[in-house]
Amino acid sequence: MTKPRIRHKRISILTGSDLSVRRLALIEHDSGKEGPIVWLTACIHGDEVGGIAVVHEIFSFLKKYPLLKGKVLAFPILNAMAFEVGIRDIPITNEDLNRSFPGSAKGTVGERAAYKILNTILESRPSLVLDLHNDWLRSIPYALLDSGKIESKDSYKIALKTGKEIKLPLVKEPFSAKSDELVNKTLAGNLLLNDVPALTLELGTSQIVDEKQVSFGVYIILEILKSLQMIEINLRPPDDIKTDLSEKIYTYSDKPYFSQTGLIRFLIKPGQVISQGKPFARLYNIFGRLTETLLVERDSLILGHNDSSVGIPGNPVAAFAQV
Ligand SMILES: [Zn+2]
Repeated sequence: MTKPRIRHKRISILTGSDLSVRRLALIEHDSGKEGPIVWLTACIHGDEVGGIAVVHEIFSFLKKYPLLKGKVLAFPILNAMAFEVGIRDIPITNEDLNRSFPGSAKGTVGERAAYKILNTILESRPSLVLDLHNDWLRSIPYALLDSGKIESKDSYKIALKTGKEIKLPLVKEPFSAKSDELVNKTLAGNLLLNDVPALTLELGTSQIVDEKQVSFGVYIILEILKSLQMIEINLRPPDDIKTDLSEKIYTYSDKPYFSQTGLIRFLIKPGQVISQGKPFARLYNIFGRLTETLLVERDSLILGHNDSSVGIPGNPVAAFAQV
């Protein structure tokens, strides 16, 4: 039997014009015993920085309380190039890395990175992958699950079961003609297609590490490791984040949108439960005249609202977990 240990690895993805090598950092905690293999991935969108801190906290926990069995692996930062300039997409190509899967060894910058990420994860034959994202500034934490053709797969059923067990609202992407198209391009979607259970955790605010959301994310992940019998510690839930879990599975929607430009005044707070037909945002023109009021389309839990009060036609105003 080998002793538990933490290893750091670096996987090359691209050589820069200054001949520096851009690499993917990988952290691995191996218990030395057979068991589940759980992956954490963070910062696939460069401005979603909170997940990096969650990964750091999980590994410092494991240093103190090593796994009883199995392995935890992590890519703490999937999109370092975007992280360094504080933006969502890969700066030199404007690609959304989470729309570049399954990727290609000879493709664009995004496709090359996606190819390395996906294949490194698949080679380890994981039991579960948790992809850590962040959302608008005041968003509440929630778990997001893909929809479409993957719903018949066992990997999807395991991800759904995990999502139902954790103390977060579980939000499913709405089923539409575009569902399968989206699944084909995202990391979580490609993992599910390759028979790996994968769940996206949206842990509050982008741009800045929100310590409350970090503690919440760490708690959720440790609870999952506990349910897999990889750790054996009684965890106290953080009491400062409350989400309404009266309904457990919701459908995601960011509609309706304003049809004109103006100043948005929000009538809602993230975390609030709101009924169909209630007004949630008003739009004013520059003379202060009310030009449009948006109404909630279905009974919903408010996940968050836009970080900007500039109303633009076709831009999401708020995100809803519809009952
Ligand atoms: Zn994201």
